[in-house]
Amino acid sequence: MARYIFITGGVVSSLGKGLASAALGALLQARGYTVRLRKLDPYLNVDPGTMSPFEHGEVFVTDDGAETDLDLGHYERFTGVSARRSDTISAGRVYSNVLDKERRGEYLGKTIQVIPHVTNEIKDFLAIGEDEVDFMLCEIGGTVGDIEGLPFFEAIRQFGQERPRGKVILMHLTLLPWLAASGELKTKPTQHSVKELRSIGLQPDVLVCRSEQLIPDRERAKIALFCNVRPDSVIPAYDLKSIYEAPLAYHRAGLDRAVLDAFRISPAPRPDLSRWEDVMDRLTHAEGEVRIAVVGKYTELEDAYKSVSEALTHGGMANRVRVRPEWIAAEDLEQDDGSHLLDGYHGIIVPGGFGERGTEGMIAAAQYAREKRVPFLGICLGMQTAVIEAARNLAGISDAGSQEFDPAADSGRCTPVVYHLKEWVQGNRKVERKPDDAKGGTMRLGAYTAVLKPGSLISRVYDGATEIEDRHRHRYEVDVSYRDQLEAAGMVFSGMSPDDRLPEVVELADHPWFIGVQAHPELKSKPFAPAPLFADFVRAAKEQERMV
Ligand code: GLN
Repeated sequence: MARYIFITGGVVSSLGKGLASAALGALLQARGYTVRLRKLDPYLNVDPGTMSPFEHGEVFVTDDGAETDLDLGHYERFTGVSARRSDTISAGRVYSNVLDKERRGEYLGKTIQVIPHVTNEIKDFLAIGEDEVDFMLCEIGGTVGDIEGLPFFEAIRQFGQERPRGKVILMHLTLLPWLAASGELKTKPTQHSVKELRSIGLQPDVLVCRSEQLIPDRERAKIALFCNVRPDSVIPAYDLKSIYEAPLAYHRAGLDRAVLDAFRISPAPRPDLSRWEDVMDRLTHAEGEVRIAVVGKYTELEDAYKSVSEALTHGGMANRVRVRPEWIAAEDLEQDDGSHLLDGYHGIIVPGGFGERGTEGMIAAAQYAREKRVPFLGICLGMQTAVIEAARNLAGISDAGSQEFDPAADSGRCTPVVYHLKEWVQGNRKVERKPDDAKGGTMRLGAYTAVLKPGSLISRVYDGATEIEDRHRHRYEVDVSYRDQLEAAGMVFSGMSPDDRLPEVVELADHPWFIGVQAHPELKSKPFAPAPLFADFVRAAKEQERMV
């Protein structure tokens, strides 16, 4: 049975709970333990799939097709453990499950209440897979005191009581604000947030205190005293230059030791931190810099492309070069001389996205990369727009477009070389969709295989592999019936679904490095195992840097 670590936050949001959880997971692994990380989100959406990237950042997709919070991406990048559908739950999902059960009569006529019905549902979720790992780390979204969070806090209180003693601990993150005028770090907000926790029956075992300034021993002792935590379990967390410093920095600050101590595990197994030392060595000893233009729709919020930006960093680490992504709003390329915005970059990426806005700019970016022979990686919508560009400008289908941008397909506004996908094969099952299906959870989601063409660029990128598997999240698809026409014009369909019906990878025959992928290779990239597509894209960009 796993030991449980609950991770909560107080004082303010955005303290880096997800990162602290992920780093702690990595440190426990370094000491030889197996871990799984989970996220409990108090919001009422059933999942983040329908949330705007502007509000909530990227939607991270798991192999088994769940649309999840971007924190699950951090968990995977730090631990290498593939997240599953059962690693994420929201209040919306909890209530929806409870109400479904009520409708099915499973509560045998009882009055349905937050305690016990909602809290039981949360506890059942926590227990899934508890025999599989040594430690289960469960992060609660939001901050203590939020109305939506209460059932979750109550559920973990009950959970702690129901488990054998010493099997559940609580780690709480807070902020120590710095008052420049008086030159002081203030501990009062931390004291209040711990008081808030204690008023609902929860006592933290470990306190992680974010601070911009060094926390003097005196303040640490004061926090320990007023928050009823041992002084060596008050862990300072200072700002870092790179998130990948977090495991080593938290280790130096004593986090993993404090956690094992709270479980009374002694002597603690010695950690092997070589993986993270190597990661840091690659980050800090990079030579040169490549500049990558990322042409997207959600460029105001970098979190909207979190995994792309991390995968680029990993690609840089693989090539020992710094990668500087620059975010360019696709719409800006739609101006008359807009394509000049792309001058001087060593590589161009068009990442995923939804809706029509900015797509003409993405098409212009693909055209620029094709004509100027700049390394190009189109991901999902980026592949679809690259195909539209080739259809228009190479294959002579001048009105080529996507049904996504022209929903009334028969309006005749465009020739839909990208169409609304209504059926496909998953394993040995046929999946079907109707045009009026609900929006949530109805895309082609999760891991699917692409069969690669021998000798193609993509198969070389994957060391001669004949099949690859990456995660998908899309509703539209390149229409295979244009394959012959496009291939005759110079576009190679170098990856296909196993039934040869869905184009998965395209590339240009007469180009040094031009690839479009329907899947999202960025989702599986890790600092210690960069996604091959990003590693090779950065390698090609680095070659450009030498040529410039
Ligand atoms: N909007 C496109 C589709 O649904 C692309 C999705 C994406 O880029 N993730 O197919």
